[in-house]
Amino acid sequence: MQLVDGFGRAARKLRLSVTDRCNFRCDFCMPLHPVWMPHSEILTYEEIARVVKILVSMGVSKIRLSGGEPLMRRDIERGVKMIREVPGVESISITTNGYFLAEKAEALKRAGLDSVTVSLHSLKPERFEEIVGRKDVFSKVLAGLEKARDVGLQPVKINCVVTKGCNDDEILDFVELGRQSGMVIRFIEYMPFDGRHMWSTEKLVSGKEIIAKIEERYRLERLPREAGSTSVAYRFADGSKGMVNVITSMTEPFCGDCDRIRLSADGKIVPCLFSRDEYDVKKLLRGGGSDEEIADFIRRAFAKKFAGVETMIKTGRVQPLIRPMHTIGG
Ligand code: SAM
Ligand code: SF4
Repeated sequence: MQLVDGFGRAARKLRLSVTDRCNFRCDFCMPLHPVWMPHSEILTYEEIARVVKILVSMGVSKIRLSGGEPLMRRDIERGVKMIREVPGVESISITTNGYFLAEKAEALKRAGLDSVTVSLHSLKPERFEEIVGRKDVFSKVLAGLEKARDVGLQPVKINCVVTKGCNDDEILDFVELGRQSGMVIRFIEYMPFDGRHMWSTEKLVSGKEIIAKIEERYRLERLPREAGSTSVAYRFADGSKGMVNVITSMTEPFCGDCDRIRLSADGKIVPCLFSRDEYDVKKLLRGGGSDEEIADFIRRAFAKKFAGVETMIKTGRVQPLIRPMHTIGG
């Protein structure tokens, strides 16, 4: 039976957080003093694969691994392989900070990973390292990107969180990178999931502003939006390779046909990123629950999925810090 929420939206994509830990300290994500989930609470790969199998039986087919930093999880390639072996899984991708990608890309590809998105918020090494709170990491991230392309992960995308006064002067530089390399550049609006309570509307650069900036130099063609997609895609009217995506979660969210469900590293079903609701499926997993009982639990949890962030934004009632981003993975 399909997994459908109270508004008739069916789940097709799973955002799977495999760890809350991270070697970076991005200022828009990580609290200054993070409190990590105890290791004993983190789902094993066997538990994850079981939940994936149950979700697939209810219509979910696209899996994105996230974190924290997913490549920090030990033997992540084993996790990928176990998910790949679940019949009905159509695609597996990872969102990563890229630091361990050069050393892991080959094994991940062999394990069945299809594509990768690397977060890169500045093309200036010093600025990048200031944003992510770590020194000597920029060149490793670039090497990771290159390796991902070499081993044939496809597509390779870049996630860039744009914040006013920090990196919004680099929008066109990222566009040039996309045009030269053929990579998809995804500009993300800053969301209020920052562990340091830094978010404010003044720091938000809207998708509209981002597109206007790019159109000062290039004509863009907006592509029809894929159902369920979080982003709007544009190609270059002059036929250049590369693409631009904007993720307008704050100014133009697409909650109406949202098709995502989330599973946190410690086994909570999170129907919506913007809601505080979470439902602990681990109790059943570790307490001898049958597949049917687990499916039923997930179905009941998902049925309560929040309508969406649209109303919250229109009424100006954005709740800051619903949860720090590293605990759920975006
Ligand atoms: N560590 C990995 C990474 O950074 O790519 C995966 C986890 S991270 C939480 C997932 C995505 O969320 C990244 O692209 C990151 O840049 C983005 N992100 C983190 N905090 C954000 C925020 N406050 N607003 C918008 N995007 C954010
Ligand atoms: Fe780590 Fe990703 Fe959060 Fe940065 S955005 S601190 S890399 S989890």
